[in-house]
Amino acid sequence: MKTISPFARPLYVFLKPVGAHCNLACDYCYYLEKSRLYPQTQRQMLSEELLEQFIRTYIQSQTMEQVLFTWHGGEPLLRPLSFYRQAVRLQQKYGRGRQIDNVIQTNGTLLTDEWCEFLHENQWLVGVSIDGPQHLHDPYRHTSTGRPSWEQVMKGIRLLQKHRVEWNAMAVVHRQNAEKPQEFYHFFKEIGCQYLQVTPLVERVVRQPEGSRLAHLKDEDATVADFTVTPEQWGRFLCEIFDEWVRHDVGQFYLTLFDCTLANWMGVPPGLCAYSKECGHAGVMEFNGDVYSCDHFVFPPYRLGNIRQQTLVEMLYGERQQAFSRLKHTSLPRQCRECEWEFACHGECPRNRFMRDAYGQPGLHYLCEGYRRYYAHVAPYMDYMKNELLNDRAPARIMDYLKKHPDGLC
Ligand code: SF4
Ligand code: SF4
Repeated sequence: MKTISPFARPLYVFLKPVGAHCNLACDYCYYLEKSRLYPQTQRQMLSEELLEQFIRTYIQSQTMEQVLFTWHGGEPLLRPLSFYRQAVRLQQKYGRGRQIDNVIQTNGTLLTDEWCEFLHENQWLVGVSIDGPQHLHDPYRHTSTGRPSWEQVMKGIRLLQKHRVEWNAMAVVHRQNAEKPQEFYHFFKEIGCQYLQVTPLVERVVRQPEGSRLAHLKDEDATVADFTVTPEQWGRFLCEIFDEWVRHDVGQFYLTLFDCTLANWMGVPPGLCAYSKECGHAGVMEFNGDVYSCDHFVFPPYRLGNIRQQTLVEMLYGERQQAFSRLKHTSLPRQCRECEWEFACHGECPRNRFMRDAYGQPGLHYLCEGYRRYYAHVAPYMDYMKNELLNDRAPARIMDYLKKHPDGLC
């Protein structure tokens, strides 16, 4: 198989040690659907043998000194601590002194003192899913019997803080919390969060006689789910939290989307694939060794192979993954190609490009209108911060400017 130079960028593959299993059953979770991909397999758990094979080949495939492991779910804390202790031993065995970092993404409800001691000791970074204060989190994030989860999540966050584990928050912005941008923003500051990633919730459903299911990109008869944030809400929400941030918190409270916007303004690669020109920065490996192009495209057409038969380099640097990467840009509809914000938006994630553009072409992102509002609003501030950076000054100086000019920039 033909591959590109493996030295051009690091190789990332997320690992799903429990497949799609989770102790919660959030209304909007797309992972639960994924368990239906493998209906014959009751126990969708990564075996210890496959864990070792993955760790060995993942480390050997890296061309850089530093190796980053990302543990995803379902809920990865459903595996016992002994599983992760074994993973650390294997990382040390095959890493042979290389710098190994670990990130684990969790709903936070299963954290205990013992878990936090392990996470602190091994310096793992923890991403906790939480959608804001209790009344904005609990409506959609609950167990399969409807028990709310917020109190357990907050208990987990307090344990992380007690044990000085590095953590960040991952919040989904949906129909309800999008209406409360101020409350949402200040909640995260009040609980001591320093890094916040906000992801807009966009899901469609297909209604079938046996019940509705989340839609795939190609489902033409799908309708937008009730909890999906509207384009108008998304634009307003982003503008409001940006106004708070740019006046009070630049350089102290980090919101990934604002960092990505500034990165694109500067012409440097942003940290999130959604705002990058191309996709395919990170593949994902399922419990059985199947590797897919992206965590959002765990569907048969995007299966790159299986770690038992192909190497990670063949799969992640091979032609199919390259084609997947390029498609993000080459499939942009005319409206995006002509858009003045394309350099920053890049049409966002292809997963949610199911609208027609102003010329009737398919492939426009559902939240386009919200993004156009956001980019037009932040443009003068981004110009200002870019100018500070180009002159070797801290972008946080914008807060001093805005204290003297409270009406803002335009
Ligand atoms: S499909 Fe979306 S989530 Fe996947 S790599 Fe592309 S932008 Fe990222
Ligand atoms: S703002 Fe809209 S038109 Fe512009 S690049 Fe983004 S999705 Fe496309």
